[in-house]
Amino acid sequence: MRILVLSDIHANLPAFDAVLADAGTVDAVWCLGDVVGYGPDPNECIARIRDLPNLICLLGNHDAAALGRLDLSSFNREARLSAEWMQGQLTVESLSFLSSRPEREVTRFVTLSHGSPRNPVWEYLLDTHTAWLNFDHFDTTFCFVGHTHLPVAYFAQPDDTGVEWRLIKADETVTLKQRAILNPGSVGQPRDHDPRAAYAIFDPDALTWEAHRVSYDIASVQKRIQEAGLPPRHALRLSEGW
Ligand code: ZN
Repeated sequence: MRILVLSDIHANLPAFDAVLADAGTVDAVWCLGDVVGYGPDPNECIARIRDLPNLICLLGNHDAAALGRLDLSSFNREARLSAEWMQGQLTVESLSFLSSRPEREVTRFVTLSHGSPRNPVWEYLLDTHTAWLNFDHFDTTFCFVGHTHLPVAYFAQPDDTGVEWRLIKADETVTLKQRAILNPGSVGQPRDHDPRAAYAIFDPDALTWEAHRVSYDIASVQKRIQEAGLPPRHALRLSEGW
């Protein structure tokens, strides 16, 4: 069984389409939130994702911002500008899709959340201590998160002695032998200095996690970010992956 796990599409349709083409046929799609925000294609990304097979698609903090559920002063200036732009773009259909997104889902082996199982929409898992505390906040063997835009794995050590952390390399297959929190990285705005779109394929029968990267036409997205009057930094960062 092949489950496409992705996160943080961030309104970048060419990156999203490249991921879908590269992943090929899958049995299910699990999106860990932030379909919108930063990029130029919020409605197009929602239209694309809503028809994917056996879809679970969570609410991310940028999706919550699009719905007006957040005080935008919690965002930095550029994120706030792009959130305001996005609020002006979203169609009724897009808003209706976003407003029915869950914050957290639990499947047979896996808990899914955008940021962390403890604080699904907001918390960033960026260090082993925070990850360790979060292992007490889900009962399944695995937890998949997005939000940091970094493809990483946190592995619980035997006898509850702590957590080991590492970045997952492009095209690496990880065999899952212990409890773990895994992040597929970001489709539309990678931040690990690899500008290619990131995603993962989870096989719950073989218990494997395949990390993938795929190139897309970054220049075309940068051009449309500029034409839309979105902050230039959101275009610049795409070519370097930060
Ligand atoms: Zn994000």
